[in-house]
Amino acid sequence: MSHVKGLKCRECSRDYPVEPIYVCEFCFGPLEVVYDYESIKKALDIQKILSRPTSLWRYRELLPIDGDPKVGLEAGFTPLVKADRLAKKIGIDELYIKDDTVVHPTLSFKDRVVSVALSKAFEFGFDTVACASTGNLAHSVSAQGAAGGFRRFIFIPASLEPSKIQASLVYNPYLVAVEGNYDEVNRLCSEIANKYRWAFVNINIRPFYAEGSKTQGYEIIEQLGWKAPDHVVVPCASGSLLTKIWKSFQELHKIGILKELDTKVFAAQATGCSPIAVAIKSGSDVIKPVKPDTIAKSLAIGNPADGFYATRVIHDTGGWGADVSDQEIIDAIKLLAETEGIFAETAGGVTLASAINLIKSGKIKREGSTVLCITGNGLKTKEALDGHLLKPFRIKPTLSNFEEILKAID
Ligand SMILES: *Cc1c(COP(=O)(O)O)cnc(C)c1O
Repeated sequence: MSHVKGLKCRECSRDYPVEPIYVCEFCFGPLEVVYDYESIKKALDIQKILSRPTSLWRYRELLPIDGDPKVGLEAGFTPLVKADRLAKKIGIDELYIKDDTVVHPTLSFKDRVVSVALSKAFEFGFDTVACASTGNLAHSVSAQGAAGGFRRFIFIPASLEPSKIQASLVYNPYLVAVEGNYDEVNRLCSEIANKYRWAFVNINIRPFYAEGSKTQGYEIIEQLGWKAPDHVVVPCASGSLLTKIWKSFQELHKIGILKELDTKVFAAQATGCSPIAVAIKSGSDVIKPVKPDTIAKSLAIGNPADGFYATRVIHDTGGWGADVSDQEIIDAIKLLAETEGIFAETAGGVTLASAINLIKSGKIKREGSTVLCITGNGLKTKEALDGHLLKPFRIKPTLSNFEEILKAID
C-alpha cells in the first residue's frame, strides 16, 4: 500500500495524479510527490524499521511505490563511519562519513534513486528506461536496468571518464555519447522524452526518482541513534540530493521519529562548476548557468534543475556553500584514503575539501557533529589521480635491496 497522495507543483501547488509527468502544465514548475504523513505516522515506527532487512526499502512507507519493490532490492544501508583520525586532521570534534562508496550495486549513491525510479517505471508498465547522465547514473541505469529486464538507452557527454564509460558498457545498454556537455545532453533527452514513451529516470520519472535520495538522510538519522547531525555537507550537481536530505530529516521529524531537528545544510561544489555555491555566497537564489570545467565530472551540471531549491534549503537552515579547486579535490581524495581507508571518487574529494574550507572559514563550528556525504567510489574516476600518487618502490628480489628501502625511509 502506498501513502502517496499525488503529485504537486512546487511553485503553484496545483495537484496532479500519480503519472510519469514532471512539470506543471500551468506554470512549468517542477512536480513533487506528496504523502499522507498522518497515515505514515500510524504505519511506521522505529521498531518496524529495525525489524526489516538493511536496505533502503526499510523506509518504504516514505517512498513512492505501490507494491513490492522490483529493482534494487539490495541497495542502500551503507556505513556511517565515525572518522576520528580525519576529524583530528581537519580540526573538528565529531565527524562522520556517510560512505556511499560501498554496498550499492554500482558503488555510488545513484543506486538509491535508480532503485526507486525503475521500481516505479515497472509499476507504470514501461519496457524501456533511459537517462541523461554525468556518469554514475549511466552506470546505475545500465546495471539495474539489466537486472530489471528493461531495454536501456543511456545518454552521456562524450568527454566522460573512460572508466565510467566502460563500467556502463559491460551491461550492454544502448550507450549514446553526445558531443556536448551534460546540459546539452539533458536538453536532447527532454526532446526525446517528449516523443518516445520511455521512462527517462531523471526527466519524466524525476519526481519519483528524486525521492530515492531521501534514503541517505533516513539512514544518517538511524545510524546516529535517531538524532540529526548539527551539520551535513552535501555534494551538488543538480542540487536534488541536498534538497532531499533535508526533506528526509523534516519527514522523520514530522512523523515523530526524530525528536529534534536543528541541522545546517552545506553545499559542496567544484570551482569549475559552482553555480549553487556562487549564488549562496552572493546572497542570491538566482542561479547563473555556467559551462563546466572540472575533474569532478559527476557534479558537472552547469544549469542545475534544483539549484534554486537547494539555495533555499541552505538559506533556511543557516548553512552555506563552498567551492574547491581540482588540486584541492585530489588532495582531499588522498587525505580521506590515508586517514580513513575510504577511496572516494572526485565528488567525494569535492565534499571533503569543501568541508575543510567551511571549517577554516568558521561556517562549520569545531563543536557539534558533522556528516560528510561521500557519494561515489574512487575506482570510478581513477584517471583523476594519474600523476598525483607516489610510485611503488621497485627492487630486485633480494633482502639487501629491500633493506635499502628501509634505510631510506627511516
Ligand atoms: C549525481 C551525483 C551527486 C549529486 O547529484 P544531484 O543531482 O545534486 O542530486 C553527488 N555525487 C555523485 C557521485 C553523483 O553521481
